[in-house]
Amino acid sequence: MATSDDKPSLNFVQEIVENDLKTGKWDGRVHTRFPPEPNGYLHIGHAKSICLNFGLAEQYGGKCNLRFDDTNPVKEEDEYVRSIIDDVRWLGFDWGDQPLFASDYFQQMRDYAVQLIKAGKAYVCDLAPEQTREYRGTLTSPGKDSPFRNRSVEENLDLFERMRRGEFEDGSRTLRAKIDMASPNFNMRDPVMYRVLRAAHHRTGDAWCLYPMYDWAHGIEDSIEGITHSICTLEFENHRPLYDWFLDSLDIHHPQQIEFARLELTYTVMSKRKLLELVTDGLVTGWDDPRMPTLSAMRRRGYTPESIRTFCRDIGVAKFKSTIDATRLENAVREDLNKHAPRVMGVLRPLKVVIENYPEDRTEELEAVNNPEDPGAGTRTVPFSRVIYIERDDFREDAPRKYFRLAPGREVRLRYAYFITCTDVIKDDATGEVSELRCTYDPATHGGDSPDGRKVKGTLHWVSAQHAACAEVRLYDRLFVKENPDSAKDPADYKTYLNPDSLETLRSCMVEPSLTAASVGARFQFERQGYFCVDPDSSADALVFNRTVSLRDSWAKIEKKQK
Ligand code: ATP
Ligand code: MG
Repeated sequence: MATSDDKPSLNFVQEIVENDLKTGKWDGRVHTRFPPEPNGYLHIGHAKSICLNFGLAEQYGGKCNLRFDDTNPVKEEDEYVRSIIDDVRWLGFDWGDQPLFASDYFQQMRDYAVQLIKAGKAYVCDLAPEQTREYRGTLTSPGKDSPFRNRSVEENLDLFERMRRGEFEDGSRTLRAKIDMASPNFNMRDPVMYRVLRAAHHRTGDAWCLYPMYDWAHGIEDSIEGITHSICTLEFENHRPLYDWFLDSLDIHHPQQIEFARLELTYTVMSKRKLLELVTDGLVTGWDDPRMPTLSAMRRRGYTPESIRTFCRDIGVAKFKSTIDATRLENAVREDLNKHAPRVMGVLRPLKVVIENYPEDRTEELEAVNNPEDPGAGTRTVPFSRVIYIERDDFREDAPRKYFRLAPGREVRLRYAYFITCTDVIKDDATGEVSELRCTYDPATHGGDSPDGRKVKGTLHWVSAQHAACAEVRLYDRLFVKENPDSAKDPADYKTYLNPDSLETLRSCMVEPSLTAASVGARFQFERQGYFCVDPDSSADALVFNRTVSLRDSWAKIEKKQK
Protein backbone atom coordinates (compact mmCIF):
# COMPACT_ATOMS: atom_id res chain seq x y z
CA MET A 1 0.00 0.00 0.00
CA ALA A 2 1.30 3.44 -0.83
CA THR A 3 -0.18 6.91 -0.56
CA SER A 4 0.12 9.46 -3.33
CA ASP A 5 3.45 10.82 -2.10
CA ASP A 6 4.76 7.24 -2.08
CA LYS A 7 5.24 7.06 1.65
CA PRO A 8 3.87 3.72 2.78
CA SER A 9 0.64 4.28 4.67
CA LEU A 10 0.82 3.60 8.38
CA ASN A 11 -1.24 1.09 10.28
CA PHE A 12 -3.06 2.39 13.33
CA VAL A 13 -0.39 1.17 15.74
CA GLN A 14 2.34 2.94 13.79
CA GLU A 15 0.18 6.06 13.87
CA ILE A 16 -0.03 5.88 17.66
CA VAL A 17 3.72 5.36 17.94
CA GLU A 18 4.55 8.21 15.56
CA ASN A 19 2.21 10.51 17.41
CA ASP A 20 3.84 9.59 20.72
CA LEU A 21 7.25 10.29 19.22
CA LYS A 22 5.99 13.70 18.10
CA THR A 23 4.55 14.64 21.49
CA GLY A 24 7.48 13.15 23.38
CA LYS A 25 5.13 11.03 25.48
CA TRP A 26 7.75 8.38 26.25
CA ASP A 27 10.83 10.61 25.88
CA GLY A 28 11.29 9.27 22.38
CA ARG A 29 11.39 5.64 23.49
CA VAL A 30 9.68 2.79 21.69
CA HIS A 31 9.75 -0.41 23.71
CA THR A 32 7.49 -3.31 22.85
CA ARG A 33 7.44 -6.95 23.87
CA PHE A 34 6.31 -10.30 22.56
CA PRO A 35 4.93 -12.22 25.57
CA PRO A 36 4.16 -15.85 24.71
CA GLU A 37 2.98 -18.25 27.35
CA PRO A 38 5.26 -21.32 27.03
CA ASN A 39 2.36 -23.75 26.84
CA GLY A 40 2.69 -24.74 23.20
CA TYR A 41 4.57 -24.05 19.99
CA LEU A 42 4.22 -20.75 18.16
CA HIS A 43 1.83 -20.59 15.23
CA ILE A 44 1.35 -18.27 12.29
CA GLY A 45 -0.89 -16.02 14.42
CA HIS A 46 2.01 -15.47 16.78
CA ALA A 47 4.13 -14.58 13.76
CA LYS A 48 1.81 -11.66 13.13
CA SER A 49 2.35 -10.43 16.67
CA ILE A 50 6.12 -11.03 16.47
CA CYS A 51 6.42 -9.12 13.20
CA LEU A 52 4.34 -6.29 14.61
CA ASN A 53 6.21 -5.93 17.90
CA PHE A 54 9.75 -6.55 16.68
CA GLY A 55 8.94 -4.64 13.49
CA LEU A 56 7.96 -1.49 15.42
CA ALA A 57 11.14 -1.66 17.47
CA GLU A 58 13.20 -2.03 14.29
CA GLN A 59 11.38 0.73 12.47
CA TYR A 60 11.60 3.30 15.24
CA GLY A 61 15.00 2.44 16.66
CA GLY A 62 13.48 0.95 19.80
CA LYS A 63 13.62 -2.35 21.62
CA CYS A 64 11.44 -5.42 21.75
CA ASN A 65 11.64 -7.93 24.59
CA LEU A 66 11.02 -11.61 24.23
CA ARG A 67 9.27 -12.32 27.51
CA PHE A 68 7.87 -15.64 28.59
CA ASP A 69 4.60 -15.12 30.35
CA ASP A 70 5.14 -18.16 32.55
CA THR A 71 2.69 -17.54 35.37
CA ASN A 72 0.67 -20.75 35.06
CA PRO A 73 2.90 -23.68 36.11
CA VAL A 74 0.42 -26.38 35.15
CA LYS A 75 0.74 -26.19 31.39
CA GLU A 76 4.17 -24.75 30.89
CA GLU A 77 7.31 -26.59 29.88
CA ASP A 78 10.93 -26.01 28.96
CA GLU A 79 10.43 -27.72 25.62
CA TYR A 80 8.08 -24.91 24.66
CA VAL A 81 10.52 -22.26 25.84
CA ARG A 82 13.23 -23.70 23.61
CA SER A 83 10.97 -24.02 20.59
CA ILE A 84 9.76 -20.43 20.97
CA ILE A 85 13.32 -19.11 21.13
CA ASP A 86 14.21 -21.09 18.00
CA ASP A 87 11.14 -19.91 16.13
CA VAL A 88 11.55 -16.21 16.87
CA ARG A 89 15.23 -16.40 15.84
CA TRP A 90 14.30 -18.29 12.72
CA LEU A 91 11.81 -15.59 11.77
CA GLY A 92 14.77 -13.24 11.83
CA PHE A 93 14.35 -11.27 15.05
CA ASP A 94 16.70 -10.55 17.90
CA TRP A 95 16.02 -9.45 21.46
CA GLY A 96 19.50 -8.56 22.64
CA ASP A 97 20.76 -10.48 25.67
CA GLN A 98 18.60 -13.10 27.28
CA PRO A 99 14.92 -13.77 26.98
CA LEU A 100 12.97 -12.52 29.99
CA PHE A 101 10.68 -14.53 32.25
CA ALA A 102 7.64 -13.27 34.13
CA SER A 103 8.51 -15.80 36.84
CA ASP A 104 11.58 -13.71 37.64
CA TYR A 105 9.19 -11.00 38.86
CA PHE A 106 7.19 -13.19 41.27
CA GLN A 107 8.72 -11.57 44.33
CA GLN A 108 8.18 -8.05 42.99
CA MET A 109 4.58 -8.91 42.11
CA ARG A 110 4.03 -10.18 45.64
CA ASP A 111 5.46 -6.94 47.05
CA TYR A 112 3.13 -4.91 44.85
CA ALA A 113 0.22 -7.01 46.08
CA VAL A 114 1.15 -6.17 49.66
CA GLN A 115 1.21 -2.51 48.62
CA LEU A 116 -2.37 -2.81 47.31
CA ILE A 117 -3.50 -4.57 50.49
CA LYS A 118 -2.00 -1.78 52.58
CA ALA A 119 -3.85 0.76 50.44
CA GLY A 120 -7.10 -1.07 51.12
CA LYS A 121 -7.35 -2.09 47.47
CA ALA A 122 -7.01 -5.85 47.78
CA TYR A 123 -8.39 -8.45 50.17
CA VAL A 124 -8.15 -12.13 50.93
CA CYS A 125 -11.37 -13.92 50.04
CA ASP A 126 -12.40 -17.34 51.37
CA LEU A 127 -15.11 -18.04 48.83
CA ALA A 128 -14.61 -21.28 46.93
CA PRO A 129 -14.19 -20.95 43.15
CA GLU A 130 -17.82 -22.02 42.64
CA GLN A 131 -19.15 -19.39 45.04
CA THR A 132 -16.88 -16.71 43.63
CA ARG A 133 -18.56 -17.31 40.28
CA GLU A 134 -22.04 -17.10 41.78
CA TYR A 135 -21.23 -13.83 43.53
CA ARG A 136 -20.00 -12.31 40.30
CA GLY A 137 -23.51 -11.83 38.95
CA THR A 138 -24.42 -11.93 35.28
CA LEU A 139 -24.25 -9.69 32.27
CA THR A 140 -27.61 -8.20 33.26
CA SER A 141 -27.39 -8.25 37.03
CA PRO A 142 -24.72 -6.80 39.30
CA GLY A 143 -22.55 -9.04 41.47
CA LYS A 144 -22.70 -9.31 45.26
CA ASP A 145 -19.94 -8.22 47.59
CA SER A 146 -17.96 -11.06 49.07
CA PRO A 147 -18.57 -11.44 52.83
CA PHE A 148 -14.77 -11.17 53.22
CA ARG A 149 -14.51 -7.88 51.34
CA ASN A 150 -14.21 -5.70 54.41
CA ARG A 151 -11.48 -7.51 56.28
CA SER A 152 -8.99 -5.24 57.96
CA VAL A 153 -5.67 -4.47 56.35
CA GLU A 154 -3.91 -6.33 59.18
CA GLU A 155 -5.98 -9.45 58.73
CA ASN A 156 -5.46 -9.35 54.96
CA LEU A 157 -1.71 -8.96 55.36
CA ASP A 158 -1.59 -11.85 57.77
CA LEU A 159 -3.72 -14.16 55.61
CA PHE A 160 -1.86 -13.27 52.43
CA GLU A 161 1.45 -14.07 54.08
CA ARG A 162 0.07 -17.39 55.27
CA MET A 163 -1.22 -18.15 51.77
CA ARG A 164 2.32 -17.57 50.57
CA ARG A 165 3.74 -19.87 53.28
CA GLY A 166 1.48 -22.69 52.22
CA GLU A 167 -0.84 -22.84 55.21
CA PHE A 168 -3.98 -23.18 53.13
CA GLU A 169 -5.33 -25.77 50.76
CA ASP A 170 -5.20 -25.29 46.99
CA GLY A 171 -8.13 -23.19 45.85
CA SER A 172 -9.28 -22.38 49.38
CA ARG A 173 -8.39 -18.69 49.36
CA THR A 174 -7.68 -15.99 46.81
CA LEU A 175 -6.39 -12.47 46.87
CA ARG A 176 -8.82 -10.18 45.07
CA ALA A 177 -8.70 -6.59 43.90
CA LYS A 178 -11.31 -4.44 45.62
CA ILE A 179 -12.90 -2.59 42.73
CA ASP A 180 -16.63 -2.70 42.04
CA MET A 181 -18.96 -5.72 42.13
CA ALA A 182 -21.59 -3.73 40.23
CA SER A 183 -19.34 -2.68 37.37
CA PRO A 184 -20.90 -3.33 33.95
CA ASN A 185 -17.45 -4.67 33.03
CA PHE A 186 -17.15 -8.18 34.46
CA ASN A 187 -13.37 -7.90 34.64
CA MET A 188 -13.74 -5.13 37.22
CA ARG A 189 -15.89 -7.16 39.63
CA ASP A 190 -13.16 -7.76 42.21
CA PRO A 191 -10.99 -9.94 39.97
CA VAL A 192 -8.79 -12.61 41.49
CA MET A 193 -5.11 -11.63 41.63
CA TYR A 194 -3.67 -14.72 43.30
CA ARG A 195 -4.69 -18.30 43.85
CA VAL A 196 -3.19 -20.98 46.05
CA LEU A 197 -1.79 -23.73 43.86
CA ARG A 198 0.75 -26.39 44.64
CA ALA A 199 2.38 -27.12 41.33
CA ALA A 200 6.02 -27.28 40.35
CA HIS A 201 6.97 -24.43 38.07
CA HIS A 202 9.33 -25.07 35.15
CA ARG A 203 11.76 -22.45 36.51
CA THR A 204 10.93 -21.65 40.12
CA GLY A 205 10.25 -25.24 41.12
CA ASP A 206 8.43 -25.46 44.46
CA ALA A 207 9.42 -21.99 45.67
CA TRP A 208 5.86 -20.74 45.29
CA CYS A 209 2.45 -22.14 46.08
CA LEU A 210 0.83 -18.85 45.19
CA TYR A 211 0.49 -17.95 41.52
CA PRO A 212 -0.63 -14.65 39.99
CA MET A 213 -3.51 -14.42 37.51
CA TYR A 214 -2.84 -13.13 34.03
CA ASP A 215 -4.48 -9.70 34.33
CA TRP A 216 -2.64 -8.89 37.52
CA ALA A 217 0.71 -10.18 36.32
CA HIS A 218 0.77 -8.85 32.82
CA GLY A 219 0.66 -5.11 33.50
CA ILE A 220 3.33 -5.46 36.17
CA GLU A 221 5.59 -7.35 33.78
CA ASP A 222 5.17 -4.56 31.22
CA SER A 223 5.77 -1.91 33.85
CA ILE A 224 8.92 -3.50 35.28
CA GLU A 225 10.41 -3.73 31.80
CA GLY A 226 9.60 -0.13 30.95
CA ILE A 227 7.43 -1.13 28.01
CA THR A 228 5.87 1.84 26.20
CA HIS A 229 3.34 0.14 23.91
CA SER A 230 1.78 -3.07 25.18
CA ILE A 231 0.19 -4.62 22.13
CA CYS A 232 -2.32 -7.44 22.50
CA THR A 233 -5.28 -8.92 20.69
CA LEU A 234 -8.85 -7.63 20.74
CA GLU A 235 -10.16 -10.03 23.40
CA PHE A 236 -8.23 -7.94 25.90
CA GLU A 237 -9.99 -4.70 25.04
CA ASN A 238 -12.32 -4.96 28.01
CA HIS A 239 -9.46 -6.01 30.24
CA ARG A 240 -7.80 -2.66 29.58
CA PRO A 241 -9.65 -0.83 32.39
CA LEU A 242 -8.25 -3.43 34.78
CA TYR A 243 -4.74 -3.16 33.33
CA ASP A 244 -5.01 0.59 33.90
CA TRP A 245 -6.54 0.24 37.36
CA PHE A 246 -3.71 -1.95 38.66
CA LEU A 247 -0.95 0.29 37.36
CA ASP A 248 -2.68 3.50 38.48
CA SER A 249 -3.33 2.07 41.92
CA LEU A 250 0.33 1.13 42.30
CA ASP A 251 1.39 4.43 40.76
CA ILE A 252 4.16 2.81 38.71
CA HIS A 253 5.29 3.11 35.08
CA HIS A 254 2.19 2.70 32.99
CA PRO A 255 2.47 1.53 29.36
CA GLN A 256 -0.35 2.06 26.89
CA GLN A 257 -2.26 -1.10 26.03
CA ILE A 258 -3.24 -1.28 22.35
CA GLU A 259 -5.44 -4.01 20.91
CA PHE A 260 -5.42 -5.34 17.34
CA ALA A 261 -7.35 -8.09 15.56
CA ARG A 262 -5.76 -11.52 15.78
CA LEU A 263 -4.90 -13.40 12.63
CA GLU A 264 -7.35 -16.11 11.65
CA LEU A 265 -6.55 -18.34 8.70
CA THR A 266 -8.88 -20.54 6.67
CA TYR A 267 -8.69 -24.36 6.79
CA THR A 268 -6.87 -24.51 10.09
CA VAL A 269 -7.31 -24.02 13.83
CA MET A 270 -5.07 -21.74 15.80
CA SER A 271 -5.86 -22.30 19.44
CA LYS A 272 -2.96 -23.87 21.27
CA ARG A 273 -5.35 -26.10 23.17
CA LYS A 274 -6.61 -27.61 19.91
CA LEU A 275 -3.15 -27.87 18.40
CA LEU A 276 -1.97 -29.70 21.51
CA GLU A 277 -4.95 -32.02 21.22
CA LEU A 278 -4.06 -32.85 17.61
CA VAL A 279 -0.57 -33.74 18.82
CA THR A 280 -1.54 -35.76 21.89
CA ASP A 281 -4.33 -37.60 20.06
CA GLY A 282 -1.82 -38.63 17.39
CA LEU A 283 -3.84 -36.97 14.63
CA VAL A 284 -0.61 -35.39 13.41
CA THR A 285 2.94 -36.61 13.96
CA GLY A 286 3.93 -33.74 16.25
CA TRP A 287 3.98 -29.98 16.67
CA ASP A 288 6.20 -29.80 13.60
CA ASP A 289 4.05 -32.01 11.40
CA PRO A 290 4.22 -30.05 8.14
CA ARG A 291 0.42 -29.79 8.03
CA MET A 292 0.25 -27.84 11.27
CA PRO A 293 -0.04 -24.02 11.32
CA THR A 294 2.94 -23.81 13.67
CA LEU A 295 6.16 -22.06 12.70
CA SER A 296 8.18 -25.20 13.33
CA ALA A 297 5.89 -27.10 10.95
CA MET A 298 6.21 -24.40 8.33
CA ARG A 299 9.98 -24.42 8.67
CA ARG A 300 10.05 -28.19 8.25
CA ARG A 301 7.74 -27.94 5.27
CA GLY A 302 10.04 -25.46 3.55
CA TYR A 303 8.35 -22.10 4.12
CA THR A 304 10.92 -19.33 4.28
CA PRO A 305 11.00 -16.79 7.11
CA GLU A 306 11.05 -14.04 4.48
CA SER A 307 7.76 -15.24 3.00
CA ILE A 308 6.10 -15.33 6.41
CA ARG A 309 7.30 -11.81 7.16
CA THR A 310 6.04 -10.62 3.77
CA PHE A 311 2.68 -12.26 4.42
CA CYS A 312 2.40 -10.62 7.85
CA ARG A 313 3.27 -7.24 6.38
CA ASP A 314 0.79 -7.56 3.54
CA ILE A 315 -2.20 -8.61 5.64
CA GLY A 316 -1.70 -5.48 7.74
CA VAL A 317 -2.77 -4.62 11.27
CA ALA A 318 -6.29 -3.52 12.02
CA LYS A 319 -8.94 -3.21 14.70
CA PHE A 320 -11.58 -5.34 12.99
CA LYS A 321 -11.70 -9.12 12.80
CA SER A 322 -11.12 -10.84 9.52
CA THR A 323 -10.18 -14.30 8.34
CA ILE A 324 -7.34 -14.48 5.87
CA ASP A 325 -7.45 -16.93 2.99
CA ALA A 326 -4.76 -19.59 3.39
CA THR A 327 -3.87 -19.15 -0.28
CA ARG A 328 -2.42 -15.72 0.55
CA LEU A 329 0.19 -17.34 2.75
CA GLU A 330 0.87 -20.00 0.12
CA ASN A 331 1.25 -17.34 -2.55
CA ALA A 332 3.78 -15.47 -0.46
CA VAL A 333 5.77 -18.70 -0.06
CA ARG A 334 5.51 -19.49 -3.76
CA GLU A 335 6.69 -16.04 -4.80
CA ASP A 336 9.69 -16.14 -2.54
CA LEU A 337 10.69 -19.66 -3.55
CA ASN A 338 10.25 -18.82 -7.21
CA LYS A 339 12.97 -16.22 -6.85
CA HIS A 340 15.40 -18.30 -4.85
CA ALA A 341 14.82 -22.05 -5.13
CA PRO A 342 17.13 -23.87 -7.57
CA ARG A 343 15.35 -25.94 -10.22
CA VAL A 344 15.90 -29.68 -10.36
CA MET A 345 14.13 -32.62 -11.94
CA GLY A 346 12.34 -35.23 -9.92
CA VAL A 347 9.78 -37.76 -11.07
CA LEU A 348 7.10 -38.46 -8.49
CA ARG A 349 5.31 -41.38 -10.15
CA PRO A 350 7.88 -42.93 -12.49
CA LEU A 351 7.17 -44.60 -15.80
CA LYS A 352 10.12 -46.31 -17.46
CA VAL A 353 11.05 -45.19 -20.97
CA VAL A 354 13.61 -47.02 -23.12
CA ILE A 355 15.07 -44.94 -25.93
CA GLU A 356 15.78 -47.71 -28.42
CA ASN A 357 18.08 -45.84 -30.78
CA TYR A 358 20.25 -44.41 -27.98
CA PRO A 359 23.48 -46.38 -27.46
CA GLU A 360 23.32 -48.69 -24.48
CA ASP A 361 26.69 -47.83 -22.97
CA ARG A 362 26.45 -44.07 -23.45
CA THR A 363 25.95 -41.36 -20.82
CA GLU A 364 25.86 -37.65 -21.59
CA GLU A 365 26.10 -34.75 -19.19
CA LEU A 366 23.56 -32.19 -20.33
CA GLU A 367 23.58 -28.59 -19.23
CA ALA A 368 20.58 -27.42 -17.21
CA VAL A 369 19.68 -23.95 -15.93
CA ASN A 370 19.58 -23.66 -12.13
CA ASN A 371 17.11 -20.82 -11.94
CA PRO A 372 15.71 -18.90 -14.88
CA GLU A 373 14.63 -16.17 -12.40
CA ASP A 374 18.16 -15.72 -11.20
CA PRO A 375 20.86 -15.70 -13.92
CA GLY A 376 23.54 -15.63 -11.21
CA ALA A 377 22.49 -19.12 -10.11
CA GLY A 378 24.33 -20.60 -13.09
CA THR A 379 23.97 -24.07 -14.58
CA ARG A 380 24.64 -27.67 -13.65
CA THR A 381 24.79 -30.90 -15.61
CA VAL A 382 22.32 -33.74 -15.51
CA PRO A 383 23.16 -37.21 -16.79
CA PHE A 384 21.18 -38.66 -19.68
CA SER A 385 21.17 -42.27 -20.84
CA ARG A 386 19.14 -44.86 -22.69
CA VAL A 387 16.66 -45.67 -19.96
CA ILE A 388 14.88 -42.79 -18.28
CA TYR A 389 11.84 -42.19 -16.11
CA ILE A 390 9.10 -39.77 -16.93
CA GLU A 391 5.97 -38.92 -14.96
CA ARG A 392 3.20 -41.50 -15.35
CA ASP A 393 0.78 -38.60 -15.86
CA ASP A 394 2.76 -37.44 -18.85
CA PHE A 395 1.67 -40.38 -20.97
CA ARG A 396 -1.81 -41.25 -22.21
CA GLU A 397 -2.54 -44.16 -24.46
CA ASP A 398 -5.79 -42.71 -25.74
CA ALA A 399 -4.84 -39.10 -25.78
CA PRO A 400 -7.35 -36.47 -26.81
CA ARG A 401 -6.24 -33.99 -29.46
CA LYS A 402 -5.49 -31.29 -26.89
CA TYR A 403 -3.26 -33.53 -24.81
CA PHE A 404 0.21 -32.16 -25.46
CA ARG A 405 2.29 -34.69 -23.64
CA LEU A 406 3.42 -38.13 -24.72
CA ALA A 407 1.14 -40.59 -26.53
CA PRO A 408 1.71 -43.36 -29.07
CA GLY A 409 3.21 -41.83 -32.20
CA ARG A 410 3.58 -38.37 -30.69
CA GLU A 411 6.73 -36.35 -30.19
CA VAL A 412 7.67 -34.32 -27.10
CA ARG A 413 10.72 -32.50 -25.79
CA LEU A 414 12.68 -33.85 -22.84
CA ARG A 415 13.81 -30.76 -20.97
CA TYR A 416 17.48 -29.92 -21.71
CA ALA A 417 17.83 -33.22 -23.65
CA TYR A 418 16.18 -34.33 -26.89
CA PHE A 419 12.90 -34.75 -28.73
CA ILE A 420 11.53 -38.26 -28.34
CA THR A 421 8.71 -40.07 -30.12
CA CYS A 422 6.73 -42.88 -28.58
CA THR A 423 6.87 -46.00 -30.73
CA ASP A 424 5.53 -48.74 -28.50
CA VAL A 425 3.64 -49.34 -25.28
CA ILE A 426 4.41 -52.31 -23.05
CA LYS A 427 1.86 -53.53 -20.53
CA ASP A 428 1.86 -55.74 -17.53
CA ASP A 429 0.17 -58.98 -18.59
CA ALA A 430 -1.57 -59.46 -15.30
CA THR A 431 -2.88 -55.95 -14.64
CA GLY A 432 -3.00 -54.48 -18.11
CA GLU A 433 -1.25 -51.42 -16.73
CA VAL A 434 1.34 -49.61 -18.85
CA SER A 435 4.71 -50.71 -17.50
CA GLU A 436 7.14 -49.27 -20.01
CA LEU A 437 7.36 -47.13 -23.13
CA ARG A 438 9.58 -47.58 -26.10
CA CYS A 439 10.72 -44.41 -27.82
CA THR A 440 13.19 -43.11 -30.35
CA TYR A 441 15.11 -39.87 -30.05
CA ASP A 442 16.29 -37.41 -32.65
CA PRO A 443 20.04 -36.78 -32.16
CA ALA A 444 19.71 -33.49 -34.05
CA THR A 445 17.62 -32.05 -31.19
CA HIS A 446 20.48 -32.09 -28.67
CA GLY A 447 19.79 -29.76 -25.72
CA GLY A 448 16.10 -29.82 -26.54
CA ASP A 449 16.40 -27.41 -29.49
CA SER A 450 14.69 -28.07 -32.74
CA PRO A 451 17.10 -27.90 -35.71
CA ASP A 452 14.49 -27.38 -38.40
CA GLY A 453 11.91 -25.22 -36.64
CA ARG A 454 9.87 -28.35 -35.95
CA LYS A 455 7.55 -27.65 -33.04
CA VAL A 456 6.50 -29.86 -30.18
CA LYS A 457 3.86 -28.74 -27.75
CA GLY A 458 4.96 -30.63 -24.66
CA THR A 459 8.14 -30.46 -22.59
CA LEU A 460 8.60 -33.17 -19.98
CA HIS A 461 10.91 -33.49 -17.03
CA TRP A 462 12.76 -36.78 -16.64
CA VAL A 463 15.61 -38.52 -14.84
CA SER A 464 18.15 -41.05 -16.08
CA ALA A 465 17.26 -44.43 -14.56
CA GLN A 466 20.79 -45.62 -13.83
CA HIS A 467 21.79 -42.29 -12.26
CA ALA A 468 18.65 -41.34 -10.38
CA ALA A 469 18.32 -41.47 -6.62
CA CYS A 470 15.23 -42.99 -5.11
CA ALA A 471 13.33 -40.71 -2.75
CA GLU A 472 10.28 -40.57 -0.56
CA VAL A 473 8.09 -37.56 -1.20
CA ARG A 474 5.36 -36.36 1.12
CA LEU A 475 2.57 -34.39 -0.47
CA TYR A 476 0.43 -32.27 1.81
CA ASP A 477 -3.03 -30.93 1.53
CA ARG A 478 -5.06 -28.75 3.87
CA LEU A 479 -5.37 -30.21 7.37
CA PHE A 480 -9.11 -29.52 7.42
CA VAL A 481 -11.68 -29.83 4.68
CA LYS A 482 -13.79 -27.01 6.08
CA GLU A 483 -12.89 -23.38 5.64
CA ASN A 484 -13.64 -22.64 9.25
CA PRO A 485 -13.27 -25.84 11.28
CA ASP A 486 -14.07 -23.86 14.42
CA SER A 487 -17.60 -23.15 13.21
CA ALA A 488 -18.90 -26.56 14.28
CA LYS A 489 -21.92 -26.29 16.59
CA ASP A 490 -20.04 -28.20 19.23
CA PRO A 491 -16.62 -26.55 19.43
CA ALA A 492 -15.07 -29.93 20.26
CA ASP A 493 -16.20 -31.17 16.87
CA TYR A 494 -13.53 -29.43 14.85
CA LYS A 495 -11.81 -32.81 14.58
CA THR A 496 -14.63 -34.17 12.46
CA TYR A 497 -13.49 -31.80 9.72
CA LEU A 498 -9.97 -33.20 9.52
CA ASN A 499 -9.01 -33.91 5.93
CA PRO A 500 -8.41 -37.68 5.62
CA ASP A 501 -6.25 -37.03 2.55
CA SER A 502 -4.03 -34.34 4.00
CA LEU A 503 -0.93 -36.49 3.56
CA GLU A 504 0.03 -38.64 0.61
CA THR A 505 3.36 -40.44 0.81
CA LEU A 506 5.05 -41.50 -2.42
CA ARG A 507 7.85 -43.97 -1.77
CA SER A 508 9.39 -44.66 -5.16
CA CYS A 509 10.10 -41.25 -6.58
CA MET A 510 13.18 -40.76 -8.71
CA VAL A 511 15.23 -37.59 -8.47
CA GLU A 512 18.31 -36.29 -10.23
CA PRO A 513 21.59 -37.39 -8.60
CA SER A 514 22.63 -33.86 -7.56
CA LEU A 515 20.02 -34.07 -4.81
CA THR A 516 21.89 -36.72 -2.83
CA ALA A 517 24.18 -33.91 -1.65
CA ALA A 518 21.33 -31.68 -0.46
CA SER A 519 21.24 -30.94 3.24
CA VAL A 520 18.20 -30.98 5.53
CA GLY A 521 16.12 -27.88 5.01
CA ALA A 522 17.38 -27.21 1.47
CA ARG A 523 14.63 -26.06 -0.86
CA PHE A 524 14.15 -26.80 -4.54
CA GLN A 525 11.70 -26.44 -7.31
CA PHE A 526 11.06 -29.82 -8.89
CA GLU A 527 10.24 -28.65 -12.37
CA ARG A 528 6.51 -28.77 -13.10
CA GLN A 529 5.80 -30.30 -9.65
CA GLY A 530 6.19 -27.56 -7.11
CA TYR A 531 8.58 -26.60 -4.36
CA PHE A 532 10.15 -29.22 -2.13
CA CYS A 533 12.29 -29.22 0.97
CA VAL A 534 14.59 -31.88 2.42
CA ASP A 535 12.96 -33.31 5.56
CA PRO A 536 14.93 -33.93 8.79
CA ASP A 537 14.10 -37.65 8.30
CA SER A 538 16.23 -37.61 5.16
CA SER A 539 19.70 -39.15 4.78
CA ALA A 540 22.04 -39.49 1.80
CA ASP A 541 20.83 -43.01 1.03
CA ALA A 542 17.19 -42.52 1.97
CA LEU A 543 16.10 -39.13 0.72
CA VAL A 544 12.88 -37.64 2.04
CA PHE A 545 11.27 -34.49 0.64
CA ASN A 546 8.26 -32.49 1.74
CA ARG A 547 6.28 -30.69 -0.88
CA THR A 548 6.22 -27.13 0.41
CA VAL A 549 3.66 -25.84 -2.03
CA SER A 550 2.54 -26.69 -5.54
CA LEU A 551 3.52 -24.49 -8.47
CA ARG A 552 0.17 -22.85 -8.94
CA ASP A 553 -2.72 -22.39 -6.66
CA SER A 554 -4.52 -25.61 -7.50
CA TRP A 555 -7.14 -25.01 -4.82
CA ALA A 556 -8.48 -21.87 -6.42
CA LYS A 557 -9.17 -23.89 -9.55
CA ILE A 558 -10.83 -26.74 -7.71
CA GLU A 559 -13.01 -24.39 -5.72
CA LYS A 560 -14.09 -22.58 -8.86
CA LYS A 561 -15.07 -25.89 -10.43
CA GLN A 562 -17.08 -26.89 -7.37
CA LYS A 563 -19.07 -23.64 -7.42
P1 ATP B 1 -4.13 -19.40 22.95
O1 ATP B 1 -5.34 -18.54 23.22
O2 ATP B 1 -4.29 -20.37 21.85
O3 ATP B 1 -3.54 -20.00 24.20
P2 ATP B 1 -2.59 -17.08 23.23
O4 ATP B 1 -3.02 -15.91 22.46
O5 ATP B 1 -3.01 -17.10 24.64
O6 ATP B 1 -3.04 -18.37 22.44
P3 ATP B 1 0.07 -16.45 23.93
O7 ATP B 1 1.23 -17.32 24.09
O8 ATP B 1 -0.48 -15.79 25.13
O9 ATP B 1 -1.04 -17.30 23.19
O10 ATP B 1 0.36 -15.37 22.82
C1 ATP B 1 1.49 -14.56 22.80
C2 ATP B 1 1.22 -13.33 22.01
O11 ATP B 1 0.82 -13.65 20.69
C3 ATP B 1 0.08 -12.54 22.64
O12 ATP B 1 0.48 -11.18 22.73
C4 ATP B 1 -1.05 -12.70 21.68
O13 ATP B 1 -1.81 -11.54 21.61
C5 ATP B 1 -0.36 -13.00 20.35
N1 ATP B 1 -1.19 -13.86 19.52
C6 ATP B 1 -1.64 -15.09 19.81
N2 ATP B 1 -2.43 -15.57 18.82
C7 ATP B 1 -2.46 -14.61 17.87
C8 ATP B 1 -3.10 -14.50 16.59
N3 ATP B 1 -3.86 -15.49 16.10
N4 ATP B 1 -2.91 -13.37 15.88
C9 ATP B 1 -2.14 -12.38 16.37
N5 ATP B 1 -1.51 -12.43 17.55
C10 ATP B 1 -1.67 -13.52 18.30
MG1 MG C 1 -2.44 -15.86 26.21
